[in-house]
Amino acid sequence: MAGAGTRILRAALGIKFAIVKPRNRLIVVGAVAQAIGAWSGAVGADFGPSNPFYAPSKLPFNAPPFDRIKDHDYKPAIEAGMAQQLAEIKQIAADPAPPTFDNTFVAMERSGRLLDRALAAFNCVSEANTNPILQEAKTALAPALAAHRDAIHLNAKLFARLTAVYRQRAALKLDAESLRLIEVEYDEFVHSGANLSAADKEQLKKLNQESSALSDAFANKLLAAAKAGRYLTADRAALAGLGEAQLAAAAQDAKSRNTEGYLIPLQNTTQQPVLASLSVRATRESIFRNSWDRTERGDANDTRSTIARLAQIRAQQAKLLGFPSHAAWVLKDQMAKTPEAALEFMAALVPVATATVLSEAKDIQAVIDAQRAGFALQPWDWAFYGEQVRKAKYDLDEAEIKPYFELNNVLEAGVFFAANQLYGISFKERKDIPVYEPEVRVFEVLDADGKALALFYCDYFKRDNKNGGAWMSQFVDQSTLLGTLPVVYNIANLPKPAPGEPALISFDDVTTLFHEFGHGLHGMFANTRYPSLSGTATARDFVEFPSQFNEHWAMYPSVFEHYAKHYKTGAPMPAALVEKIKKSKNFSAGYDLTEVLAAAELDMQWHALPAGAPLQNPDQFEKEALARTHLDIAAVPPRYRSSYFLHIWSSGYAAGYYAYIWTQMLNDDAFQWFEDNGALSRANGDRFRRMILSRGNTEDLAAMYLAWRGRAPSIDAMMKYRGLKPAQ
Ligand SMILES: [Zn+2]
Repeated sequence: MAGAGTRILRAALGIKFAIVKPRNRLIVVGAVAQAIGAWSGAVGADFGPSNPFYAPSKLPFNAPPFDRIKDHDYKPAIEAGMAQQLAEIKQIAADPAPPTFDNTFVAMERSGRLLDRALAAFNCVSEANTNPILQEAKTALAPALAAHRDAIHLNAKLFARLTAVYRQRAALKLDAESLRLIEVEYDEFVHSGANLSAADKEQLKKLNQESSALSDAFANKLLAAAKAGRYLTADRAALAGLGEAQLAAAAQDAKSRNTEGYLIPLQNTTQQPVLASLSVRATRESIFRNSWDRTERGDANDTRSTIARLAQIRAQQAKLLGFPSHAAWVLKDQMAKTPEAALEFMAALVPVATATVLSEAKDIQAVIDAQRAGFALQPWDWAFYGEQVRKAKYDLDEAEIKPYFELNNVLEAGVFFAANQLYGISFKERKDIPVYEPEVRVFEVLDADGKALALFYCDYFKRDNKNGGAWMSQFVDQSTLLGTLPVVYNIANLPKPAPGEPALISFDDVTTLFHEFGHGLHGMFANTRYPSLSGTATARDFVEFPSQFNEHWAMYPSVFEHYAKHYKTGAPMPAALVEKIKKSKNFSAGYDLTEVLAAAELDMQWHALPAGAPLQNPDQFEKEALARTHLDIAAVPPRYRSSYFLHIWSSGYAAGYYAYIWTQMLNDDAFQWFEDNGALSRANGDRFRRMILSRGNTEDLAAMYLAWRGRAPSIDAMMKYRGLKPAQ
């Protein structure tokens, strides 16, 4: 079945708001996706030939006909698409002919076309250009789509046929990609419980229900806890250090919640951005403690018993499915493959991270001492004094930089230029392709030989009806089986300039454009037969590799010089300024890595618990886990504490948080290969495209990387590019 979509949440390190969204799965937040069974499966009578999704698009590249699609067209098309796919699946399962690769796996690859095209368009607009009609449709569709996936995965007749083919696969004389399809799809079914006895299926279902209820409860408690954990004061002096705009926003926040004074809401992470500005130490400490204890106050929002039970249930689910721990179950289809591999990787980074963060702490303590403040650095002081260190060391003025980064120039003379130099592709703007919003631009991507390769949409400006952050996804997946070429889009939230003014962006934003375009290339270069294995449909600990890798070219001299030109004069950026950008890039690399490592270790330790382990005391567990992994550094708490770690308890990231750091290792290690081999060249680009970017999930990802790199990835390049210190 098409669509092993990978869901990547907002990235944690350096890569801000950089995600790739699943393609043919509804994008939903949290546990809504698990609310199974509310949908009856009825096809709305309101779906017929007048619906623009009824037939495949006749536009170039099968682009969505946004000129004809109305908000009310999506829901009936998606519902009809589910019904149609279920009918197709039923037919495959009931086929009187003996099961073959073609009449099972390939037939499933061909199924669900209507659902795919409607859902792909819906996912884009409901995130990037939403409104109440689309939001309502999304809420209604979430349980239906979850039930739809289950109906396919738990179809016993279908699974029996897949199993028959799976068992004889070695004798079938299939090509490598077809064999890979069999293994990936079969594993996905087994992963979902298709292999269990009726009694075990029943037990799994019960555990699933309890775990989904607990995940929901966790998310709700956390939401309430974050609200309750806000900082409220009537004393303006307590907020010294905030600018007028921040104070006005805090006053407005208080007002909108019908209270007086100033209100600072709590963010998801342990550290709170506002701590960088607040000069009153007592205020910083209060805000930090509000954050740290938000879900541990013994009140209705305390999540400790919820997560302890969740961890236990997950271990039991894994045991039913034949795995020693939840982490082992999750890691099975990832590049790392086992929790041990992920743990070993993290253990190797810990001494490097701590050596770096301790040296940063020294610099910060020196500033505190120079001001005769008379205290030892605490977590709530880090950002405030760190900011002073940053200013003293680099003092990078955004206003000075931005005139060199005009959006269109960055895109065409930077992002597109780098891709042209590496891969020979070129871009032609298409004004004739309909878009869902007039601001969206469309480019046809031409291959080095001039042939049509893909369609690329970009929608870069912030709007009120657009979700935050930046992401990539697709309207159409590449597949030679279906005869489709990729239609890819990038979304961002760049500040929109006043009419007639140029869009001048920060270097962070420049990096985001390169990052999302890196995902774009992974989609555009896809050259696979089966849509399920195409492009970005890879493991979570691989999918952020091509995107982060592409970020490296933003700072590469011949690329940078080509686009970083003053928007008025065309003058290149002064060398001193370029040097400042380079140096400041790694500021606080030790802190960033250490807090993420600590969170990733907590995640992995919780999910490595075996089914027989007793119910844990979360505080004690957390303390011991951090001590065991040598990450118990008082001034550097984990990015998320166990009791408010939304990613792992409610957002599908359990035993997966390490992937953020793992893919950093991959992309730095890959860039090192380029540097060792002459860096930017067509030969290097073409080789990377042939061996990695075009391959999707058609081969074991570790083997794919090994074949391209010539050895397994190492952390050496990551240390070098990120300015991390060797272990002491
Ligand atoms: Zn990304």
